[in-house]
Amino acid sequence: MSDARVFVISGPTAVGKGTLVSRVVAAHPEVYVSVSATTRLPRPGEVNGVHYHFITDATFDELIATAGLLEWATVHQSARYGTLREPVMTALAAGRPVILEIDVQGAMQVRQTLPDAVLVFITPPSWEELVNRLRSRSAETAEQMALRLASAKHELALKDMFDHTIVNDELDIAVSELVEFIGL
Ligand code: 5GP
Repeated sequence: MSDARVFVISGPTAVGKGTLVSRVVAAHPEVYVSVSATTRLPRPGEVNGVHYHFITDATFDELIATAGLLEWATVHQSARYGTLREPVMTALAAGRPVILEIDVQGAMQVRQTLPDAVLVFITPPSWEELVNRLRSRSAETAEQMALRLASAKHELALKDMFDHTIVNDELDIAVSELVEFIGL
């Protein structure tokens, strides 16, 4: 039996989860990072199968119907996102630690489906810093930004439901904390 585990990384939008996870994997390529399926359209530079599996609503419905997803959620009141079951199970069977970078609704579902999963919440040093980080991203329109800030307020309130919290102030320190927590 392998004792490889699933680590769920969640936190509000623009807190820097993606950068944090990329840094951990660059240093520890044995970690498997799940590539989610989503119904949202690719942003410029995003590659199908690398950043996400970009799929249609019909294909997403089919994945739900065939229990192909470990969890899924509608995020920022716009698109659906979900974790593909099969690649995660294959990585665990091979003894690889698995990271899921997903939203808080998904994290709560994983707690039900995979009770051994460890839930890690990434938090900004302050609300003001989160707003600054979101503003410095050019991809969002004012309307999308307002939606993301509303989601972020809601997400920050769920911090206590997680097993562990890491403050992403200095990136290097946050990376070391996550590496140590995962036990790499
Ligand atoms: P973005 O559209 O900026 O790539 O991602 C928006 C949000 O969707 C992020 O908070 C991210 O954590 C979340 N997300 C990405 N993949 C998944 C997934 O497979 N399941 C869930 N529940 N959320 C996801």
